[in-house]
Amino acid sequence: MNYAGKNVLVIGMARTGLATAEYLIKRGAHVTLNDMKPETACADEIARAGAIGAEAVVGGHPEEIFLRADFIAISPGVPMALPAIVKAQSRGIPVLGDMEIAFDEMKGRVCAITGSNGKTTTTALTGRIFSDAGLKTVIAGNIGTPLISFMDHDSRDTWFVCEMSSFQLESIDHFRPCIASILNLTPDHLDRYNSFESYADAKRRIYRNQTTDDFLVLNGDDPLLRHEEARSRTFLFSRKLQLKEGCFLQGDGLMLSSRNGSGVLMPLARIPLKGDHNIENVMAAALMAHLAGIPSESIRRSVEEFRAVAHRLQFVATIRGVDFYNDSKATNVDATIKAIESFTGNLILILGGKDKGGSYAPIRDLCPSHVKLGILIGQAADKIEAALTGACPLARVGSLEKAVETGFERATAGDTVLLAPACASFDMFHNFEHRGDVFMQAVRGLEKRAG
Ligand code: ADP
Repeated sequence: MNYAGKNVLVIGMARTGLATAEYLIKRGAHVTLNDMKPETACADEIARAGAIGAEAVVGGHPEEIFLRADFIAISPGVPMALPAIVKAQSRGIPVLGDMEIAFDEMKGRVCAITGSNGKTTTTALTGRIFSDAGLKTVIAGNIGTPLISFMDHDSRDTWFVCEMSSFQLESIDHFRPCIASILNLTPDHLDRYNSFESYADAKRRIYRNQTTDDFLVLNGDDPLLRHEEARSRTFLFSRKLQLKEGCFLQGDGLMLSSRNGSGVLMPLARIPLKGDHNIENVMAAALMAHLAGIPSESIRRSVEEFRAVAHRLQFVATIRGVDFYNDSKATNVDATIKAIESFTGNLILILGGKDKGGSYAPIRDLCPSHVKLGILIGQAADKIEAALTGACPLARVGSLEKAVETGFERATAGDTVLLAPACASFDMFHNFEHRGDVFMQAVRGLEKRAG
């Protein structure tokens, strides 16, 4: 697209918005950056906007800046349902995300990964397998650096391995991955979508532009995903089904099979990540790599060397026989269930934070067999207590540090203290990383005191 002389409104003044503004200005557009945050909360961003030559309008979304735009570039954190956006769209003003804008110019190939859980782990692993195999690889998107930031480099022969949230998928138009994967679909973000179906539909957009030349990798154990109707060549991965093609288990070996070849990839025991959900992530990554033509030997080596991404079921320490695990990224109920199921029992589970509108009842069934004590923190504590009362002993504390202390006091050797909160972190922390860091610091403090 030719941006010269175009009036573009970029909504959201965090990393992606600023990167998008810079990209468009370099190509001759006049850019207004807009954020609802008040001036006092975004002084640095306003300074950066000035430095790159964008006008900044903050503290709200005044309608006139929307209606005078030739098109609107939206950041992943901003809802498409924003009234000013809906109105602009109804007047025919296009609304695009940074990934769509980047894709318009890109010469390389995209491997895009979405799902309710496991995106970051699978994207990091897939990127690692691709680059270990000698492919020119960039890991981008929701996982860290916005895709658009890479477009000033020569993108020919590059694989862009992208993590995509449902929000990012809402704002694509022609974006077409050569390889796409939906890892799973479970309720999340029901505070932002009015139904599970509309959330699932946003995820399905990942393959809507694919053609018969492209590949789609789906979780065969997810009843919602097994029967997607896509134009692309679809391959499943499964822990339960025996498949003719795809990635699946045979005995205790992981099998890969397609026209590219068939055989055992590796014994399950050689996967260094904990939990069945991580077997699924490995299967998805291995299958995508296989479809990209990477030899099994190379895939196996990369998987064996891969370690958990920080805050995803990350081992922290053992203190007097009590293990501590940080799964601060378990910000929804399904991720918490997967974390609990990764242990055989004897858990002291720290739960709670900012509620996201779903039900905590699915955790209940696992409590009698797995959870010795649930320690509840944060805004959602009442709702979680109501859902779990009677299933396991519960305690309420006022801070995460106190939860770590209480967990250690009540634990005996052989137990595990697990932070897997099933909630967002914003009631008490800046983000899940901050929450995980506070947890790990508290554990380190205990470690020192325990000698
Ligand atoms: P995402 O980027 O989708 O949030 P992460 O890899 O960051 O995914 O993991 C988010 C949370 O979900 C973590 O608590 C992690 O342990 C858990 N998790 C990882 N993979 C899966 C999976 N395949 N199914 C369910 N939960 C998962």
